[in-house]
Amino acid sequence: MSKDALIFYSEFDDPAAWKKTLTAELPDLDFHTDPGAVDPAAVHYALAWKPPKGFFARFPNLKLVTNLGAGVDSLVGRDDLPDVPISRLSDTGMVSLMSSYVLFSVIRYARDIYIFERAQRRGEWKYVHPRALSDIKVGVLGLGELGAPAAQALARTGFDVRGWSRSLKDIPGVRCSNGMEALDAFLRSTEILVILLPLTPETRGLIDARRLSLLPEGAKLINASRGAVVDESALIAALQTGHIAEATLDVFTVEPLPKGHVFWGMENVLITPHLASITVPEAAAREVAESIRRVRSGLAPLHQVDPRRGY
Ligand code: NDP
Repeated sequence: MSKDALIFYSEFDDPAAWKKTLTAELPDLDFHTDPGAVDPAAVHYALAWKPPKGFFARFPNLKLVTNLGAGVDSLVGRDDLPDVPISRLSDTGMVSLMSSYVLFSVIRYARDIYIFERAQRRGEWKYVHPRALSDIKVGVLGLGELGAPAAQALARTGFDVRGWSRSLKDIPGVRCSNGMEALDAFLRSTEILVILLPLTPETRGLIDARRLSLLPEGAKLINASRGAVVDESALIAALQTGHIAEATLDVFTVEPLPKGHVFWGMENVLITPHLASITVPEAAAREVAESIRRVRSGLAPLHQVDPRRGY
């Protein structure tokens, strides 16, 4: 008979690696991947990425659902979510992957690398006088577990960084503002926009035609959060007129980005296939185990999500 059991579900993540790392942390944890092979009453924890509808209903004694990733939009929007604490993954490995993606993408624009990539394809020696990084205004939308360290990394690199979130933050080297009333001014003063907002009812389509038009002529946009935070048709139009000169897109409303999509043919768009940051079990298992230990002792898990807020 199973005792304190965890059910794992993911079509993308490696259950063997998770079992190995998680049971190394919690040797008494009964780790299962087959819902049919475990006493449903013994399942207290679910570690899952996009499980099928009704998945949670068969486990009446769940105490914790952990989303097998940082973005919880596909989880909190469900109508079959049990009324138990929901947590998400976050670990230093994910943070450094995201910060490196953001740094790379911003530097590619700030140091004119995209211009040299194209000049090289034409066999052209094209000198562009570099700008001082301290003159380049970078704005980070979303200052959460991934956004705040990315903004800090940009500031440490020497950029003029501003950040925007729901509640006001205090991040060394980053000019912070918050709330909808501050968003227009934030966008007007941002040359390179980095989007690290979760997808929620409030942020869906937030970066629409009007807000894109507030960015200075020739601005660059980097979206590493969720495609639907940006109105993609408005972005395409802005990229076609050149108002938005360049975009780096890791995420899209429809993924994989369909063959023949207009983004594929745009020279001023760099496409990466949703991998700005990924979860490595070795790094994340410690956090998941700690959440389970906390729930066992009657405490809240780490990285708890508020399903009503959406993130
Ligand atoms: P967090 O939930 O830790 O932080 C979200 C941030 O957005 C917070 O600063 C929050 O403000 C702010 N925010 C949320 N809603 C609003 C709003 N309506 N107005 C203003 N600010 C708002 O998220 P993470 O930093 O961990 O991750 C961000 C997103 O990145 C994830 O939700 C996920 O979608 C995406 N992601 C993408 C990956 C990829 O590979 N491309 C990998 C991992 C994540 P406040 O702090 O005040 O609450």
